[in-house]
Amino acid sequence: MSSLYPDQQLKRRVMAWALRLKVNPQRVNIADLPTKWGSCTSDGVVTFADELAETDEAFQDYVIVHELLHLRYRTHGKRFHAMMSALVPDWRELARQSRHSTERSIGHG
Ligand SMILES: [Zn+2]
Repeated sequence: MSSLYPDQQLKRRVMAWALRLKVNPQRVNIADLPTKWGSCTSDGVVTFADELAETDEAFQDYVIVHELLHLRYRTHGKRFHAMMSALVPDWRELARQSRHSTERSIGHG
């Protein structure tokens, strides 16, 4: 068991991915997002739902990578999906599961 709070662990995971993806978010927020798992603004602020910390690590990675990739690619184009598949190979399956198990979406604001 780590002594870190779940929010801090989640934030660490985000920062590790940001380093790996060579993106530099203006700010990373963990907040109470009732309808979304994560969001990314055009000025580079990424926000993740605090409840994401309670989900499987594979699912966390899917949401984190999705939002961080928006710092590079604004839209869900070919290159966006190619990067998703390279980094989180089973992201399509994770996306499908999340749609079945929750009303939340991955959003953009
Ligand atoms: Zn997106």
